[in-house]
Amino acid sequence: MSAASSANTTRKTPSILIAAAGEDDRWKEAMVARLQDANIVTQYENYDPKTIDFALLWKQPQGLLKSLTGLQAIFSLGAGVDHVLSAPSLPTEVPVIRLEDAGMADQMVQYHLYAALHFMRDFDIYARQQAKADWTQHDVARISKCRVGVMGLGALGAAVATALTQLGFAVSGWSRTMKAIDGITTYAGAETLNEFLGQSDILVCMLPRTAETEGVLNGNTLSQLPKNAAVINAARGAMIVEADLLRLIDTGHLRGAFLDVAVTEPLPESHPFWDHSKIRITPHIAAATRIEESVDQIAENIDRISRGETPRGLVDRKTGY
Ligand code: NAP
Repeated sequence: MSAASSANTTRKTPSILIAAAGEDDRWKEAMVARLQDANIVTQYENYDPKTIDFALLWKQPQGLLKSLTGLQAIFSLGAGVDHVLSAPSLPTEVPVIRLEDAGMADQMVQYHLYAALHFMRDFDIYARQQAKADWTQHDVARISKCRVGVMGLGALGAAVATALTQLGFAVSGWSRTMKAIDGITTYAGAETLNEFLGQSDILVCMLPRTAETEGVLNGNTLSQLPKNAAVINAARGAMIVEADLLRLIDTGHLRGAFLDVAVTEPLPESHPFWDHSKIRITPHIAAATRIEESVDQIAENIDRISRGETPRGLVDRKTGY
């Protein structure tokens, strides 16, 4: 690694640190192939923390950021940045940049088409019938009568909402600021949440985890959903108050849930979600970061920063996403 100059000087040779929760070598290999003249190290190698310009992070060890005093930017190696913003040692002035789509939108679309059809075509009911060798047939609902509400219309939520519309669902979306997406009825802001929920037979959560969205799906809000509505959450577990979700399923207000995320991950063995006949669980696999696409985005953003331009995917520290 070169003995780099001071933190704010634009460097010809950027020094990059990777801390990627066990995937460090794969990320390093891809970054080295993409940025051949950069100094790139993983957290497990010897490096001088003061010389690091850019940190590429996924679930980094506690305290790592404290020693990186020359950082020009922090990159999250995922769409979410909650793992970075919650770090106590996060420097206040350093820009945090997230991945936008980076191959995840296609996977999110696949996950949600499957999960929405699971409820729309009664596969949840047929799974329970199979356990009892029950051959009862049910009428097939019209897809255009099945209303899906997508919370969060960002890089991933908008792709999911559009794909569900194309399949024939009646889709609406809810976001912080108003969006216009072809074929989708949109709502914005907390004051429209109840109205949006009241017409969502299937609710999809594609929100980022922030101070405002934590626990947004609780006993009060989930009760606004129509009777027999289903919930799909592949965003973050913290958006749902799990005990409230369970209660509303058990008391019959909600039909069931399809969950990729939980408050505690891995989901503890004793957690009631595992055995629940109305809950489907997947182990946080809805959409994985694709390294090739991500490395391109990161390299382009490093170029932008070195030219004094604003990077794409810059996180707003105030809103938290
Ligand atoms: P994004 O582009 O940042 O979009 C976030 C959306 O949520 C935006 O539409 C935003 O509204 C809306 N929003 C934020 N705060 C809100 C609030 N308080 N009230 C109403 N709407 C609000 O995020 P993304 O890339 O689509 O990703 C969404 C989340 O998916 C990530 O944060 C991550 O946690 C999760 N994720 C999960 C997996 C998995 O495998 N399970 C994989 C990737 C990502 P505006 O449009 O008005 O800004």
